[in-house]
Amino acid sequence: MYAACVMPGARQPLEIRELPAPDLERGAALLQTMYSEVCGTDVHLHHGRLDVPFPIIPGHVSVGRIAALRDTNGGVCGVDGERLREGDVVTFLDVHETCNACYHCLVAQQPTRCAKRRVYGITYSANDGLLGGWAEAIWMKPGVKMIRLPDDLAPETFIGGGCGLVTALHAVDLAHVRLGESVAVLGVGPVGQSIVALAALSGAGDVIAIGAPDDRLVFASRMGATSTLGLSLTSADRTASVRDVTRGRGADVVIEASGSPEAVSNALDIARDGGRVVICGHYTDNGSVDIHPHWQINRKHVEIRGCWGSQYHHFHRAVELAARFGDRVPWSEMVSGRYALNRAADALAAVESRQAIKALIVPGAS
Ligand SMILES: [Zn+2]
Ligand SMILES: [Zn+2]
Repeated sequence: MYAACVMPGARQPLEIRELPAPDLERGAALLQTMYSEVCGTDVHLHHGRLDVPFPIIPGHVSVGRIAALRDTNGGVCGVDGERLREGDVVTFLDVHETCNACYHCLVAQQPTRCAKRRVYGITYSANDGLLGGWAEAIWMKPGVKMIRLPDDLAPETFIGGGCGLVTALHAVDLAHVRLGESVAVLGVGPVGQSIVALAALSGAGDVIAIGAPDDRLVFASRMGATSTLGLSLTSADRTASVRDVTRGRGADVVIEASGSPEAVSNALDIARDGGRVVICGHYTDNGSVDIHPHWQINRKHVEIRGCWGSQYHHFHRAVELAARFGDRVPWSEMVSGRYALNRAADALAAVESRQAIKALIVPGAS
């Protein structure tokens, strides 16, 4: 039996339950969980803002050691063909069962919109087994895409970036940051922090981080922001400040990662005419906002793109980026709290109250 932290329903207290070890099918594996992330999405799940099959075991981005593996004939391999073995330290794409047969998968090539898509820690019920990261062990069903962490990548570095790093990479991809362009980032949580880092690595010129509280803005400077703006300024003042930094034009690229509806309107205001705006902070329904189409969109000629979920290639490249740049970008230091399974409620509260930029569940901790 393995202990798991279960979220029984919206706003209900978390519980520790004992779940049986899965009967591993061919191609399946069991991970001994090393770290599982507490993401803003978990707070939203607890608030009942996503339709999920409670009870669930939260935790969609995790790192673990392969404790058991039931090989297929050719072995269970990563995308490079290298066989995975017991003892390997891996992470895995939380998205599973994308069908690669429907219109969204094959024609539109938008697999994040595939109706068959399931997500560890979100869309699987705890009644189905160890299919979330806040547990001593995680059941890797056949076909789950595991990635062995390179030897030079500390698990703490990857999980420090974690879900936010993967989402940030997707958003920065969509923004098509060109060398020397100015990038404004609204929101300095884990997603915003990694967007700052990846924009800087992409060769952006000015990288302006906008958000709160102040200690997160200080951290954003360490991630690569060249200037920061706090939320004590009015949105008009923030817009004026961005124009000051960008010679009166506004930012070439604006990426919203705050989850605030008002930030979407502010993003349109601080983009330059003909600039690009990516909205990735609204994974759940955070409400609506008034937009003035003439002034904020048409006349400005802005390009707006939405960013929801991630694909395998984002996950794969996030691991490679963490390995290559982990000594320059302080992802591992973004973790401000580590919690044993039975303290998951404290971890959730720390993320909800913004005391912690990033909290981790460490099932082996006491
Ligand atoms: Zn997440
Ligand atoms: Zn599909």
